[in-house]
Amino acid sequence: MTPPDALFQAVLDATSDAVMVTDRAGLIQRANPAFEKLTGHSRQALVGMNARDLFREHNDEEFCDGLWNLKDRQHFDSVRSKHADGKAQLHSLTMTPINDPGGEPSQYVALILSETFQTDAASGTTRKAGHDPLTGLPDRSLLSDRVGQSIFNAKRANKSIAMLVMGIDRFTVINEGLGYAAGDQLLKELGERLGKVVRQSDTAARLDGDKFAVMTPISAIDDSVIVAEKVLNGMRKAFHLKDEEIFATLSVGLSVFPTDGKDFDELLKGALSAMQFAKQAGGDQYRFFASDMNTKAKNRLDLEKRIRAALVNNEFVLYYQPKVNPKNNQVKGGEALIRWKDPVRGMIGPGEFIPVAEETGLIVDIGTWVMKEACRQTKEWQDKGYEPIKMSVNVSAHQFRAKDLLDKVIANLSACGLEAKWLELEITESMLMNDIDAAIARMQKVRDLGCGLSIDDFGTGYSSLSYLGRFPITTLKIDRAFVRDVQENTNTAEIARAIIGLSRGLNLEVVAEGAELLEHVDFLRDNGCDSIQGFYYSKPLTALDFEKMLTKKTA
Ligand code: C2E
Ligand code: MG
Ligand code: MG
Repeated sequence: MTPPDALFQAVLDATSDAVMVTDRAGLIQRANPAFEKLTGHSRQALVGMNARDLFREHNDEEFCDGLWNLKDRQHFDSVRSKHADGKAQLHSLTMTPINDPGGEPSQYVALILSETFQTDAASGTTRKAGHDPLTGLPDRSLLSDRVGQSIFNAKRANKSIAMLVMGIDRFTVINEGLGYAAGDQLLKELGERLGKVVRQSDTAARLDGDKFAVMTPISAIDDSVIVAEKVLNGMRKAFHLKDEEIFATLSVGLSVFPTDGKDFDELLKGALSAMQFAKQAGGDQYRFFASDMNTKAKNRLDLEKRIRAALVNNEFVLYYQPKVNPKNNQVKGGEALIRWKDPVRGMIGPGEFIPVAEETGLIVDIGTWVMKEACRQTKEWQDKGYEPIKMSVNVSAHQFRAKDLLDKVIANLSACGLEAKWLELEITESMLMNDIDAAIARMQKVRDLGCGLSIDDFGTGYSSLSYLGRFPITTLKIDRAFVRDVQENTNTAEIARAIIGLSRGLNLEVVAEGAELLEHVDFLRDNGCDSIQGFYYSKPLTALDFEKMLTKKTA
């Protein structure tokens, strides 16, 4: 019998599709003749090369690094690689991680189907089967294959897919007015623009006539809104046809797997009918197939506009909730909690606008304001002669990752003259789990400034307890879920007790959230909790009311 390795090599050598195998870091271990032909490099030159060098120049860096972090097989439709002669070439790429017995990828197999090899669009070579000859984009049948594959993957990972179908508004007018050659030119340029706005994991295709489609895996409905807006914005620049500048707009229809359809045909049908609604409404806009989605998308856009205006008009206010020492009932700290005083709708809680502010990046400006105002207020109370208290502010994921976080903290502290030790930043576990080492480095910098750092809602995230000892934090806040039913549920009580014990062992301050009843306070105090924040002592208060709870310095 042929040894498995020789058999494997023989299969690789015989196939016309290009295959390479890399180690987990991306160094090439094997390559077949088709791969040598595709890249123009000999096998000797390829083995040991960092495979990213083939892709780096013509794709985003994030995409290249992402390839060697994949946990599941993934297919990319339009990837560019660099030939040894320097030219870019366009093709598909399927990456398959091979897992070791521990379930971690130890090698990757990269497969590039021969039918997809082509020199880049700029050189204008003819396209292979599955592609539309005019635009070079995948055609309807290839799109249908891709959607089928994506549905298969989405089902396994419990994910969603959005299908966008778009048509050019008043295309017949352009075609008849400027002639068919100009019409073709418009379609071609539109195809190129579409190719540029979509990500590598998306598929842009030409269906027929003036109709195009984009399929994109999404994790939330808002992701599809972002793609639709990118597509519409991609049309804002003039097209140059027959020496004339013309502007064209699109109508975009969206359908979503699995809610609007279970296969390609159903999704396409839904998206086409949504596109008709967008056309009837005047074009240059998108519509979802499911009508409640349109209301949701519209509400979200309205809210985004109103948040922007609220920042300009100073409609945000801070409330403060005391953290109380249960042994002597004295206020030892506070948490600043944002509220929106909307002139029309009245007081709006953070749950209604923080998530949208997060998605749109507006949270960065909001967070900057919160930190500045909380520092100013805390210093003002000190200056008025109250016992100093430590004030915490919630820091969102966006803010925590921003490069200028530290600069902002320093600027806010020095603007009002507050010492760093009176400011504490609250972050949540989920912000720390992506890249633990980077997160720890960032946390350490906050600590080096002298600020406190606490983990909010502890116990609801996924952090492993083993990391806790590595996090340079000062405080743990036990989520209110564990406090709420300590009386009735002995398991919950055990968890709360364990978190308090753990915090003490790690020399952390422990704050319990959501204590509403005397029984909660008794339990927490008796089990050694230093600090309690909850309705039992007080709801979040206006600055004026919070001040009444502070004690005057005696000396
Ligand atoms: P959080 O940081 O965990 O804040 C504690 C929340 O629990 C507050 O809700 C507070 O009113 C509520 N709470 C306190 N004691 C009790 C209690 O005894 N029982 C119950 N049922 N609830 C209690 P709030 O003010 O609505 O804030 C909700 C969340 O919004 C905060 O959770 C925080 O994640 C976020 N948030 C608030 N202000 C900001 C901010 O300035 N920036 C950012 N990024 N997020 C903020
Ligand atoms: Mg908090
Ligand atoms: Mg909390």
